[in-house]
Amino acid sequence: SDSHFPVPICPSDVDFSSHYPHFFPGPGPAHAHDGPRPMVRFADVGCGFGGLLVGLSPLFPDTLMIGMELRDKVTEYVKDRIQGLRATNPGQYNNISVVRTNSMKYIPNYFQKAQLSKMFFLFPDPHFKEKNHRRRVISVQLLDEYAYVMEVGGIIYTVTDVEELGEWMKSCLEKHPLFEAVGEEEINTDPVVKLLTSATEEGQKVARNGGQTFMAIYRRVASKED
Ligand code: SAM
Repeated sequence: SDSHFPVPICPSDVDFSSHYPHFFPGPGPAHAHDGPRPMVRFADVGCGFGGLLVGLSPLFPDTLMIGMELRDKVTEYVKDRIQGLRATNPGQYNNISVVRTNSMKYIPNYFQKAQLSKMFFLFPDPHFKEKNHRRRVISVQLLDEYAYVMEVGGIIYTVTDVEELGEWMKSCLEKHPLFEAVGEEEINTDPVVKLLTSATEEGQKVARNGGQTFMAIYRRVASKED
């Protein structure tokens, strides 16, 4: 349960320096640490075994990215995987990390307003029964939180092999006033889009089985408050 992992009280309470030591200045006099604190910009929600992070890392080597995963063992696996990649590829994979958390409860504890430029929801659990729809990681209510932590112009990527869930995620995004669909041309030229189905373990499984996938890719648009 949630009581078994630490929950930061607010984003400034999260020690990201231990996640990305390469990007944070080492110990020394305080004035040596001047300058903006590096910020996490991409979040992979329900990252599973971390394939997307590993695929994205070399594409955006200066962007900090975090996976959020509920299962303890899976989170530990991703941590070890990243440590191994850093050890065997010196200078690479320093920009990716993972936290164990329940993203449905604690997104605002990790990120401040407008912090994220990309959020990923790849092959989330479908929760088929109507009474379990409230457990889905995309809902109109949760989109309020995601809109809060995303910058205007930021992009939310969703994909699933479950048609009904694909329709659901699209309809939630369509209904939400702070998101609008990204155009087809932009989707076709975005290098990240290919990774949605090819980089993650779940995506590879679906591809092996010749399954169909359903994507919904939406942009955070401005509100009166932005
Ligand atoms: N995105 C990965 C992929 O495409 O390979 C994993 C997909 S897997 C079907 C869904 C993942 O979401 C699981 O690893 C599960 O533990 C995680 N998950 C489910 N609910 C979550 C929550 N509330 N917070 C964080 N992770 C969650």
